[in-house]
Amino acid sequence: MQCEVCGRKIFGTPNRAVIEGANMSVCDKCMKLSSGTWEPKPKPQPRPRTGVMRQPLPFAKRKTTVSVPETFELVADVGTQVRKARMKAGMSHDDLGRKIREKVSVLRKIESGKMVPDLVLAERLEHTLKITLRVPVSEPEVKNVSSTKPLGTTLGDLIHFKEKGANK
Ligand SMILES: [Zn+2]
Repeated sequence: MQCEVCGRKIFGTPNRAVIEGANMSVCDKCMKLSSGTWEPKPKPQPRPRTGVMRQPLPFAKRKTTVSVPETFELVADVGTQVRKARMKAGMSHDDLGRKIREKVSVLRKIESGKMVPDLVLAERLEHTLKITLRVPVSEPEVKNVSSTKPLGTTLGDLIHFKEKGANK
């Protein structure tokens, strides 16, 4: 082990010095130049994600003012509804696209049934065209979220698993 400052051989434990902001292992003599000491860092611990959720981001409220409950589903004939309502309102694809800030090509696809709008877009269409595209799901639909998670795996297990992998 050599002093990282003067290159002298260090007998025993090197001093952990902070010199000009850099962590260095130095001899006793060079330790006088140090502005502090540093601790050897253990491998970084994965931060639990729950910490993030405790503090909602301030801009999150502004981003989406409409909360879309998951208990809604779209009516089967979304495209027809949109087309009819748009015609009735005397709007062209361009007009509607401008109003709801959506691409005309997307609107065309929706009206021709090639595409299904997401619930947020559906809500915008509803408001603009004064129609109903979303209907409450009568039975609480069991989403696939739970089945995508491996059964019997806790967060602790996942962290443990990650650490194992990092050691490789
Ligand atoms: Zn030295």
